[in-house]
Amino acid sequence: MPRIQARHLAKSYGDVAVLQGVDLTIEPGEYVVLVGPSGCGKSTLLRCIAGLEAVTAGDLHFDARRMNDVAPKDRDVAMVFQSYALYPHMTVEQNLGFALTLRGAPAAEIRAAVDRVATMLELGPLLARLPAELSGGQRQRVAMGRALARNPSILLLDEPLSNLDPALRAHVRAELKRLHRQLGATFIHVTHDPVEALTLADRIVVLHQGQIQQVATPRDLYEAPANLFVARFLGTPPMNVLPATTVGGQTVLSGTSLPVDVDVPSLFQIGIRPTDLVLDPQGWPAVVDLIEPLGHEAIVHLRIGEHAMQWLLPEPVDMKPGDAVAVRPRTLHIFDGQGKRL
Ligand code: ADP
Ligand code: MG
Repeated sequence: MPRIQARHLAKSYGDVAVLQGVDLTIEPGEYVVLVGPSGCGKSTLLRCIAGLEAVTAGDLHFDARRMNDVAPKDRDVAMVFQSYALYPHMTVEQNLGFALTLRGAPAAEIRAAVDRVATMLELGPLLARLPAELSGGQRQRVAMGRALARNPSILLLDEPLSNLDPALRAHVRAELKRLHRQLGATFIHVTHDPVEALTLADRIVVLHQGQIQQVATPRDLYEAPANLFVARFLGTPPMNVLPATTVGGQTVLSGTSLPVDVDVPSLFQIGIRPTDLVLDPQGWPAVVDLIEPLGHEAIVHLRIGEHAMQWLLPEPVDMKPGDAVAVRPRTLHIFDGQGKRL
């Protein structure tokens, strides 16, 4: 199983730069999730790793071997696509064995591979069915099995859960994690869903406009986002971001005289996770604007002077709009004028 290394990787279509200066190392056996908003270049990066797109500049290495010009079939990589088109006139069994059949593998080898993935993905009872006779989740499992039948050392998954309904998505998500542990292969998974990234990844790569914003474990990403984009992209509700200024040696929330307990020069921005506000009589005076009950928790919208904040409470609340409360941030994230973490 190779270490995958991208160095200054770039991809353009004409004069449109889709990926710019991507530097990334993926260790053997890692579960890496590429996450970012639609159009940021996730699928393009995955397709470059697969060899389905030629890179415009930079290098791709699998261990010491330069892969830029190596054909997809020689990369020991398998890919599961979002639209996991199964061959409609083939049974599950034929779909699973198709890649091996194409290669002219002996029947016994195909049989063994199909049995192996069918057992792993609990597809045994479905082998004689046609895709039209399967549920969405079962089709997704067949698509995964088809990729795994070749026993690849690297599995690339492009939005593999986005065609599933929410309940099934959570179920397949857990299955993916189990499968990764069982196989020990390298998984590179693309999604636009931050929750999917946080729950599945050993490490998350956040992409925005073709550039890597941060590579970190889910925990580090959440606790120490490198910039405002990452800070706001991960976490629901998103991090509150408020301007702060230092006036006459005193740091305050902009437009108020409310003190901010940090010591940084000039203008900057503070970030407060909605879960990091606590009630404190000495805190900032706020007014409850709106409450969104979520059963076991609640989102309280607050106004502090001209600023708005969301506060996520881990329990139902009996506040009402117009109530006065005083809150204090338990943790502050500080960003400079350009949005870079200080
Ligand atoms: P993501 O998977 O993050 O949604 P993509 O990697 O599919 O994003 O696309 C990134 C950008 O590259 C988009 O702006 C898209 O329009 C553009 N793009 C992708 N493929 C092509 C192509 N074959 N020709 C021109 N532009 C493309
Ligand atoms: Mg995509």
